[in-house]
Formats: sequence, C-alpha cells, structure tokens
Amino acid sequence: MLPELATKWGTPLFVYDTSIIDRQYQRLVNAFKGQNVQFNYACKALSNPNILKYFKILGTGLDTVSIEEVRLGLMAGFDPKQILFTPNCVDLNEIQEAVNLGVQINIDNLSTLEQFGSRYGDSVPVCVRMNPHILAGGHHKISTGHIDSKFGISIHQSRYLQRIINHYNIHVNGLHMHTGSDILDVDVFLRGAQVLMDLAFDFPELEYIDFGSGFKVPYRPDERGTNVEELGEKMGYLFSEFCNQYGRSLALVFEPGKWLVSEAGYFLAQVNVVKHTTSTVFAGVNSGFNHFIRPMLYDAYHHILNLSNPNGKERIYTVVGYICETDTFAWDRPLPEVREGDILCFLNAGAYLYSMSSNYNSRLRPAEVLVHRQKDYLISRRQTMDDLLASVVICDLEY
Ligand SMILES: *Cc1c(COP(=O)(O)O)cnc(C)c1O
Repeated sequence: MLPELATKWGTPLFVYDTSIIDRQYQRLVNAFKGQNVQFNYACKALSNPNILKYFKILGTGLDTVSIEEVRLGLMAGFDPKQILFTPNCVDLNEIQEAVNLGVQINIDNLSTLEQFGSRYGDSVPVCVRMNPHILAGGHHKISTGHIDSKFGISIHQSRYLQRIINHYNIHVNGLHMHTGSDILDVDVFLRGAQVLMDLAFDFPELEYIDFGSGFKVPYRPDERGTNVEELGEKMGYLFSEFCNQYGRSLALVFEPGKWLVSEAGYFLAQVNVVKHTTSTVFAGVNSGFNHFIRPMLYDAYHHILNLSNPNGKERIYTVVGYICETDTFAWDRPLPEVREGDILCFLNAGAYLYSMSSNYNSRLRPAEVLVHRQKDYLISRRQTMDDLLASVVICDLEY
C-alpha cells in the first residue's frame, strides 16, 4: 500500500498505521493485566489531533509538556482529569492557566512548588516530579535521570521538599519520575521505581505513582525493545507489595510516547539524485533534517527500504537530504540498488519526527496520512507558501 500512497499523496509523506498503535497499546495492556494501571500517551511524540483522538478512543490519558499540548488534548476530547501537565522551566502563569483548565499539574522544581503552594495551599492537588538519579542508558541527549539533568526534584532534596509541602499544606496526590528514552533494561525501571516507592511513605495523600516512560522499541533489524511483559510482571509484584505496606491501593501510571507510535510511522521520500563522489555514493532525497531530524540530533538509526526496487542488487549508500547543511539520514547503508526516482521508506517514523519538523531552508512540511482499517485519511495537508507566510508581518522599511 505504501507505494500507492506515495503516488496518491506525493512525497515527502508521513504515513501512520493505527493497527500498529493498537498492537503496541494492547501489548502494554496485556503486560499489566489485572493491575490498577493507567497509560498516558506522551503526545509530544506525535501530536496531530487525530492521533490524540485515536488514543482517546483507545482509552489512554494524555501526558503533556506545554499549555499548547494541553489545549490540543482538550480539543481532542480528553477530560481535563485525564491530562497530566508536566512542564519544566515554565512561567507560573502557564501553570495557573493549566489549573484553570482543570488538568492535573506535575511540578518539577522547588521554586515553582513554593510559588504554587503560596498561591493554592491545599486547594489544588499536585504531583511532584522527582529525579531518582538512575543512569538510564540510551543516548545522552535523551537521558533525564542523571545528576546533571535539569529535570525533576532531586531525591536528595526530599527534606527541603517536605519543608515546603508542610509550610504551605500542599496536597501532593502523585509522585512522578521519567528517566529518559530508549531504556532497554527492565532492571533500570525497577531500580527507579523502587526509589520512588521508598520515598512515597513520606507522602500520605498519594493517589498514584507515575513511573514515566522510556520504553524502547527496536530501530535496527537486530535490535530488541523493552520486555514490557517482564516489566509488567515484576512491577506488578513490587507495586502490590508496596501498596500493602503503604496501606492503600494506588494507581500505577506510565506515559509512553515512542512505544506507542514509533513503529506505526513510515516516512516516504523520493530519490532526486544519485551522486558518485571520490569517496562514496550519495542517494539524495527530497527531504532533510527539516522533516527528519533524529539521525542528525541523536545519531539515530532508521532502517530504510527501497520500495521501488526491493529486489535490486545490494549496494552501499550514504543517504542524504536536500538541505543546504549536512543532513545525513544514513551512513554506509546497504540498500537494494537505488535509482533516481525511487521511493525510499524510512521506518520508525511515528515518534519525534513530524512533531520536531521545521521550515528550515524555507521548505514546507510534508503531509501526514493515517491508515485505519485499510482506508487512508489525510490528517494534515502538505504545507503551501501561504503557511510559510502565515505569521509573517511585512513592513514598509525605508532606507
Ligand atoms: C517525552 C516524555 C515521555 C515519553 O517518552 P518516550 O521515550 O517517548 O516514551 C514521557 N514523559 C515525559 C515527562 C516526557 O517528557
């Protein structure tokens, strides 16, 4: 179906398949069967309102990191109570706006918590984001639990935290952590979880503990993802032990982004030029890091298929884009022989690509298509020059 979609909608094009979103969500649900668990989709991974609406139908909540994401979630029909707002380094005004919209607030630093407490006292329940200082593995740019991270309140500040809570009589109803992305090792989750559960006894009014996300999915053909079944079983055991000691049954919350949408996405681009240089063969496509930034930002590997010549003879290519800047998609990649005009398909294109795309080089953003039960739906059209100029104000400057 992908080659037909490239013909029908043109390239570059993002395609998302709801059946893979379903598969990933069901795997989580089954892994935590029988537990009091809630999954909040971390919508910064892929934030098209149709995708949000789909998660609403599936029954997830929403994890948001900006007031704009909160508004998108409300537009998509989420109940404010199903939305957790986890900002960092935002102005208190933005948090007040979120309070007024009725969403659950998660605060990640003591200064903001102090201001929040002095304003709301115990009238607005709040979640606090802790930094358990767990080294999560994964790329350094996506690790958030380490000692130098800007995220969360250090567990070593818990006395200071309690002082603020007691002084303002703050009603802490949730504890939160999120130690980064691409965490393969189940024991890393469990260690972080244990730190949070140990801490939880200092917070008598908890309703839930949110263990964040970071679930890894395979990007390379030989790679494995997080074993969520093992995690579900081990977490289930640890958490129910904890609840027994705590004296009450709390909800277990996770907030996966990548896990739910990465593999559901395909990015289609056309090869404009095959260029032999003294050192390599470049396959240059009609896109760049303006649409597809993960290889350049995170050194991420994205598997590539040649849809137009799947059985071609294998050759080595450096796949690059058309941006006037180094924008490599893949280095020394064996691909079935690539010819000018071929359509390449980049896998794992659902998470952190369209939502990170830009208009750099004054290029337009691609279209996004959602495939649901064999039907394709345009969920955002290709941009036009008008979009590029939509916020521009032309002034009459005189020299
Ligand atoms: C980005 C983010 C997530 C999702 O992380 P993934 O690696 O995509 O699963 C979850 N929680 C918070 C607070 C985040 O910022």
